[in-house]
Amino acid sequence: MQILEQLRFTNSFARLPEAFYARAEPTPLENARLVAFNHSAAQLIDLHPEEADRPEFLRWFSGEEKMPGSEPLAALYSGHQFGHYVSQLGDGRAIMLGEVTNQRGEPWEMQLKGAGLTDFSRSGDGRAVLRSTIREYLCSEAMHGLGIPTTRALCMIGSSEQVYRENIEDGAMLLRLAPSHVRFGSFEVFYYRNQFHRIRELADYVIRFHYPDLESTESPYAGLLERVIKRTAKLIAQWQLVGFAHGVMNTDNMSILGLTLDYGPFGFLDAYDPDYICNHSDHTGRYAFNQQPRIGLWNLSCLAQALLPLLNENDPEAAAERARELLQIYDPELRLAYARGMRAKLGLRETKPEDAKLAEDLLQIMARQRVDYTRLFRALSGVRANDANSDNQSRDLFMDRAAIDPWLERYRVRLQLESANDDDRSRQMNRVNPKYILRNYLAQQAIKEAEKGDYSEVERLLALLQHPFDEQSEMGQYAAEPPEWASGIALSCSS
Ligand code: AMP
Ligand code: MG
Repeated sequence: MQILEQLRFTNSFARLPEAFYARAEPTPLENARLVAFNHSAAQLIDLHPEEADRPEFLRWFSGEEKMPGSEPLAALYSGHQFGHYVSQLGDGRAIMLGEVTNQRGEPWEMQLKGAGLTDFSRSGDGRAVLRSTIREYLCSEAMHGLGIPTTRALCMIGSSEQVYRENIEDGAMLLRLAPSHVRFGSFEVFYYRNQFHRIRELADYVIRFHYPDLESTESPYAGLLERVIKRTAKLIAQWQLVGFAHGVMNTDNMSILGLTLDYGPFGFLDAYDPDYICNHSDHTGRYAFNQQPRIGLWNLSCLAQALLPLLNENDPEAAAERARELLQIYDPELRLAYARGMRAKLGLRETKPEDAKLAEDLLQIMARQRVDYTRLFRALSGVRANDANSDNQSRDLFMDRAAIDPWLERYRVRLQLESANDDDRSRQMNRVNPKYILRNYLAQQAIKEAEKGDYSEVERLLALLQHPFDEQSEMGQYAAEPPEWASGIALSCSS
């Protein structure tokens, strides 16, 4: 564990030509103070947790003082937003302070979100509100707790600065960490500008630092696309399995490392509803829960298009053919990951031809009966193969119990074909079916308290969600179904 002065700041992204970014200095917030610190993320950069108590920590990570070796910058990118190409986006309010390489040799970019104006702010104010900062802080750590690739969150800076959205809100900053924040849109911008040499420079950079084993292969660029396709397919399968809706799957929010990136109006399913739209601004349901797998492919096609000039320099038709071939990997990869994950959720180790149908039928009944997704899968671990009374906990989650009884009977018959005993299966299932997720209303409660200056609920939720599979019996009420008032929470893109 290290003290602040021992952190080695470098910035490999800043070694790229200036075409990829604009230098940017953070603008400190009024009365900045450290309001949350995440010990678990501090370990990623070997930072001793007590360092958070030092005034230097606040000064460095609130952008008040430049840390030694830091070369702050805002990255350029473009992207497809709700299906339409927007030619220039870029970090309009996030400033990358630099990267810290830990003792295991892993580089972690440190990005301060809400850090003030950059060359890419367009009409925005460069700020983030406390509400959205808390949501990203909690959700990125909740996703990590669930085993889902994501950017991480080191700390939150609160302030008395007022930020104007639909209402006046408190300004805040999030310090987030990721090996890289490069997005699909980071490539697209140069494709649409016809600057193909830049696409190559960026691809070389990403390969060198994040997919180094591709360097010695025959076609590293095709290899890069293939890796991103596979990672994205797996990521989205994990979202579907846990009931997570991202809300704004624009190509500028898609990570080249297959991480969950840019938490906005995301939502976890409460009652199972495949058509769930978490973003109130998404009028057509483009990013509805059950559209995510399809949109993942659409977004990857945008990336593939941007990489065409690298796939075959001299023969555009051959390049397009190669891209099409690679994109075909996506669907089977996602289906396989989803099917595997769903089998684990149901506790099925043996493979039987009827398993897929068993899962599908369950989801259909759940959708009709609007049964809580997380609670039902967690309850299923209590079902014993030879005990018809063991499924009461699952049954009780259905308004019309008769609607689920035939399915539960089928499930028990199926479990009888498993070699694992009930207790082992139950333990295994509880390792993949979380008890706790970041339900909207839980985030909302923590936000309300924080807006009054009390961050204890943020802290409690963070600790809870870092171990979502553990019983944590004294926290049982956090696993309950959302209260009536929760259905009124509307989430927009405003953040
Ligand atoms: P998002 O919807 O947060 O993914 O943001 C889309 C684009 O708008 C990104 O380029 C952001 O940097 C930019 N942006 C969002 N909010 C602001 C803001 N308050 N000030 C400046 N730029 C912003
Ligand atoms: Mg974004």
